[in-house]
Amino acid sequence: MTATLIDGKALGATVREEVAARVAELGHVGIATVLVGDDPASHIYIDLKQKAALAAGMEARDIKLPAATSEEELLATIAELNADDTVDGLLVQLPLPDHIDENRAIEAIAPAKDIDGIHPFNAGCLYLGRPTLVPGTPLGVMRMLDEYEIPLQGARAVVVGRSAIVGKPMAHLLLQRHATVTICHSRTQDLRHHTLDADVLVAAVGRTHVISADMVKPGAAVIDVGMNRGEGRKVLGDVDPEAAERAAYMTPVPGGVGPMTIAMVLQNAVTAARLGRARSARGEAASSAL
Ligand code: NAP
Repeated sequence: MTATLIDGKALGATVREEVAARVAELGHVGIATVLVGDDPASHIYIDLKQKAALAAGMEARDIKLPAATSEEELLATIAELNADDTVDGLLVQLPLPDHIDENRAIEAIAPAKDIDGIHPFNAGCLYLGRPTLVPGTPLGVMRMLDEYEIPLQGARAVVVGRSAIVGKPMAHLLLQRHATVTICHSRTQDLRHHTLDADVLVAAVGRTHVISADMVKPGAAVIDVGMNRGEGRKVLGDVDPEAAERAAYMTPVPGGVGPMTIAMVLQNAVTAARLGRARSARGEAASSAL
């Protein structure tokens, strides 16, 4: 068997087109990105998000603060953007410089504008199974699974990785769709035993080819979130590409999950804008919860 490759590049483009159509319908969707410091990778990510937002017809405010910005100054900037009705979605690029408490910064973002889905309120809603803003990467994975009509109800899903931004929200989204979910991590014993049982296997580890082909159940859907730098800065996944000989569906790296993330963050901005309009129609403050 050779797996059907799940084309994240094409699907990401479709999502961005859908987003652009929704932006046109709403008339105005505004996001603001906040970057503190000079981390080169963070600058690249922010520029990509800015470019994608502008291409979708959004207003995108690009706030770049010097590395010496104090925590209080950052919190004041976030408070201003929370109160600004022209900003529907607010994104603070992580990591922040060491002198800033990341949790304080995240908690300062109005949950209703938290298009990265990282505020504890939104994480809590996800845990409770309530509709909310969810991090872009796991949201993108769900869209991929749906697009390729991969059955989830009653399926055995194994998520390798338990980060707050990928593994944990991924597991909750799969659980909401009635999969039987196992979460594996660095202390899991006999990882292979678990992965071999997975109808749906999501790898979000950050270690090149930690999932070898013989760890994949024949006929499984394999989603590789990993983006690891190999020789010559080549991007390599967490799953050995040989696993495509056993899997029924598999995401390539690059061109799989990667292109979905920003598209889904933009989709979150549209969701935030739509809910924001509904909230102001009810006379509620923009900075309140969803
Ligand atoms: P992370 O915060 O470093 O989390 C990695 C997780 O993997 C942790 O839960 C860790 O367990 C677990 N782990 C580490 N070694 C393991 C092993 N040998 N066996 C089983 N589990 C192991 O990383 P992340 O932010 O979730 O990102 C994961 C990967 O996805 C990275 O390659 C990242 O670049 C990529 N990523 C891609 C996108 C995209 O758009 N495609 C977006 C985000 C992330 P412990 O909790 O026990 O330490």
